[in-house]
Amino acid sequence: MITFYPGPSKVYSSVEGYLNDAFRSGILSANHRSPQAMTLVEKTIDLLKEKLRIPPQYSVYFVSSATEAWEIVGQSLVGKGSVHIYNGAFGQKWAEYTQKLVPSTSRFKFGIDEAFDFEQLSDSEADVVCITQNETSNGTQIKTLSQLKTDALVVVDVTSSLGGIHLDFTEGDVWFASVQKCLGLPAGMGLMICSPKALERAKQLNDQRFYNSFLFIHENFQKFQTHYTPNVLGIYLLCRVMEQVPDIQSIDQKIKTRARDFYEFLEKCNLKPLVQNQTQRSDTVIAVKIPEEQLGNLKQKANSQGITLGNGYGFWKNNTFRIANFPAIDDWEFDELKDFLVNLYQDYSDFQNLQD
Ligand SMILES: *Cc1c(COP(=O)(O)O)cnc(C)c1O
Repeated sequence: MITFYPGPSKVYSSVEGYLNDAFRSGILSANHRSPQAMTLVEKTIDLLKEKLRIPPQYSVYFVSSATEAWEIVGQSLVGKGSVHIYNGAFGQKWAEYTQKLVPSTSRFKFGIDEAFDFEQLSDSEADVVCITQNETSNGTQIKTLSQLKTDALVVVDVTSSLGGIHLDFTEGDVWFASVQKCLGLPAGMGLMICSPKALERAKQLNDQRFYNSFLFIHENFQKFQTHYTPNVLGIYLLCRVMEQVPDIQSIDQKIKTRARDFYEFLEKCNLKPLVQNQTQRSDTVIAVKIPEEQLGNLKQKANSQGITLGNGYGFWKNNTFRIANFPAIDDWEFDELKDFLVNLYQDYSDFQNLQD
C-alpha cells in the first residue's frame, strides 16, 4: 500500500532495519540516565543541528508531540499574552488550547489565498506571536517571516514542514514539530528548537508548576537527560534517520521541485488545488479540491489500486483530499499516483489536455 496521508505518514523503509538494530543494541532496556542513553541523546541533537542547519546557539529538546509543545509554550513562555495568526484547523486548535491556559489570547485569521500582513500586529500587546508556518489542514504555508518585526517571542509550528524544507531558524525563537510527518518516523515524539531569547523568557517567568515546565526540561537536557522516561526507541530511530538523510538544502530542492511538478500536473488534469494563490501554496502538503459527490468514489478507487489519499481536514473535510509531499515518499510512488489520476480522469472523459 502506498500512502500519501499527511500524518501519520509513510515511514522511511529503512526504519524496518533500524527497529531490529535498536532491539539488538540493548538501548531499549538501558536506563535513560545511563551513559549509553545520554550519548544517544547528544548524538541525535548534534545530527539534527548539522542536517537541519540549526544555529549552534539554539537548543533542541525532545517532547512527546507538537500538541505538547503548544501547551509548554502556553505554560512557560507567555507573559502578557499571546497572539495567534492562522488560516486553518491546526492554527485554530493551538489558539483554543492556549486560551484555556492564558486568559489574554488574541487571534488574527486570514484567508487561504492571502498573504498575512504582519503590519497588523503593530499595536499588539502580546509578548508571544504564534504562527503555523505550514497549515496541514488546507495546504498553505507562510514562506518567510522576514516581514515580521517584533520584540515578542516568535513561536512557529513547523510540524508538517520540519525536515522537508530549509527553514531559517533565525527568524523565530521556538520551532516545534512531531516526528510522524516530514521526518518519516512512527508517531510518539516531538521536537522543540529554541533560541537563547526563548530561554531568557523562561527564566524571567520562572514557571515551575509542571513536569514539562520549560526550565525543568532545559535543566535535564543540559545533562542530555529528559524530564521523564523518554521514547528511547523514537530517539534511536530519529538518530538513525538523521544519519541517513542528506543535508536539508538538498532535501529542500527535491521537495520543492516535486511540489511544483505536482501542482502543474494537477492543472493539466483539470484538478484544482484548493489554494489558488501560488505564493501561499505549501510544498509539503498539497490540498486538492474535488466536488463532494466525486470524493467517495475517488478514494475508493484509489484504495483498490493500493493508494491511500489523505482525507480532507476540518472545514475542508468533504471537498478536498490531501497529498503529503514528504521526503520518505519515493518518486516512483508519485508516478503511480499520477498514473492513477490520469486514468481516472480519462474515464470521466470530460477532461482534456491529458497528454503529458
Ligand atoms: C499534526 C499537526 C499537529 C499535531 O501533531 P501531534 O503529533 O498530533 O501533536 C500540530 N500542528 C500541525 C501543523 C500539525 O500538522
